[in-house]
Amino acid sequence: MLFKSTRNSSLRIESKDAILQGISEDGGLFVPQEMPTLGDINDYLKTDYRGRAKLILSKFLTDFTDEELDVCINSAYSAEKFGSDDIAPVKTLSNELSILELWHGPTCAFKDMALQILPHFLTASLKKHSDKRALILVATSGDTGKAALEGFKDVDNTKILVFYPSDGVSNMQKLQMITQEGENVAVCGIKGNFDDAQTGVKAIFTGADMKKAVDEGGYTFSSANSINWGRLVPQIVYYVSAYCDLVNAGKIDKNMSMNVCVPTGNFGNILAAFYAEKMGLPIGKLICASNVNNVLTDFITTGVYDRNREFHTTISPSMDILISSNLERLIYALSDYDDAYVRELYTQLAKTGRFEVSEKIKERLRIHFEALYADDKETMNTIKLTYDRYGYVPDTHTAVAISAYNRYFLKTHDLTHTVLASTASPFKFPASVLEALGVNSEQDDFAQLKQLSEISKMPIPAQIDELKDKDVRFTAVCDPSEMNKTVLSCL
Ligand SMILES: *Cc1c(COP(=O)(O)O)cnc(C)c1O
Repeated sequence: MLFKSTRNSSLRIESKDAILQGISEDGGLFVPQEMPTLGDINDYLKTDYRGRAKLILSKFLTDFTDEELDVCINSAYSAEKFGSDDIAPVKTLSNELSILELWHGPTCAFKDMALQILPHFLTASLKKHSDKRALILVATSGDTGKAALEGFKDVDNTKILVFYPSDGVSNMQKLQMITQEGENVAVCGIKGNFDDAQTGVKAIFTGADMKKAVDEGGYTFSSANSINWGRLVPQIVYYVSAYCDLVNAGKIDKNMSMNVCVPTGNFGNILAAFYAEKMGLPIGKLICASNVNNVLTDFITTGVYDRNREFHTTISPSMDILISSNLERLIYALSDYDDAYVRELYTQLAKTGRFEVSEKIKERLRIHFEALYADDKETMNTIKLTYDRYGYVPDTHTAVAISAYNRYFLKTHDLTHTVLASTASPFKFPASVLEALGVNSEQDDFAQLKQLSEISKMPIPAQIDELKDKDVRFTAVCDPSEMNKTVLSCL
């Protein structure tokens, strides 16, 4: 299997190089030359998460040896890292709704599902070019940064630098990053929002001067953001796995469809579900849930993508995004892989901040997707409602998706079983969750964790509790214009 770019369909590179480069030189994103099919679903039904991962990854990463893939999968998806062998457990709340918990990894957010394995992909890819070390640049809206730091810490031949919006992440998220351990890690705040950080990182990647400087330092840039194919492909696995778990549990009949509902930001997670559907997984509707930064709700319902709008800081910070990078991959697929068309749209987007897709694509968007959004108030109400109804405490991001699902259900009465991606542990956002539950919360973050544990009857994740004893290592904050300098200082 070779990979091409969304802006150059005739490009062909191997998956190791796609993973190493992160983004194509033409500014496009790497996608497989063609979508493989899942094959016999029975093969997936009878194996575990690691087995399912092996079946799927081996279809895309054909330049990896069997042994390399085994090392990647077994190092990433272990009981030690995820608390049990149930790497992505499914909790059924009703006949119509199950929650796919994607936050049992080391940083308590779904980013671990991909970022625990990406460093192993990258190490295998680096071996192909034995002289190279990788400098990983990350722009984070909160969870990617920590998950990438944790995934890459002390990985040979890599350095990692994370930029986060200094006022745009939760206390816990910030604490997780600035206390990060490891010899090869650095963290820097940005005076700006996530989009500023992401735009800065993209500019550094594609800028010739920076590339040269980094090259001379013996490094090659790579990205751990969800534009990297190595981030996307592991995400396909958990949708297939959830389907299998539900079939095995008798909640879905084999070959019946399920819907998928995803709290969405950069469009990586839900795109993986779309790819799973392309591979043959029976999926009905893909329900795209946003917070008030609802650029995707508008896009899916009208076909107009317009990021010229106010940016809002919300209680679901990892979804505070107006530039959803992975949308480019969706448009490429829905335009029947028309690279010239994608180039045209994205040139327009760069110039005007807006584009409108063709009628054909609008129609296809309507067939595959449903899009809804929830504001902070509705999200808070949903946390309370979900707790009262099911005794289940979702985090703020998951609650955005539950709000969207509830409204979808009221609108359509669609009884298709829906798998809803739960993207973070509620313990990452204790203040908001306690407030939603009507609890007078303590001032101190760690006292809040105790309160939340008592109410939810869930243990505090050890990796969050132990932050209180860690030293702060990274206090730097820079202007977006100074990002280049920060990168060079890491070499
Ligand atoms: C990153 C993140 C999202 C958004 O996922 P995308 O793949 O960017 O759409 C949602 N919830 C949480 C908790 C996240 O960390």
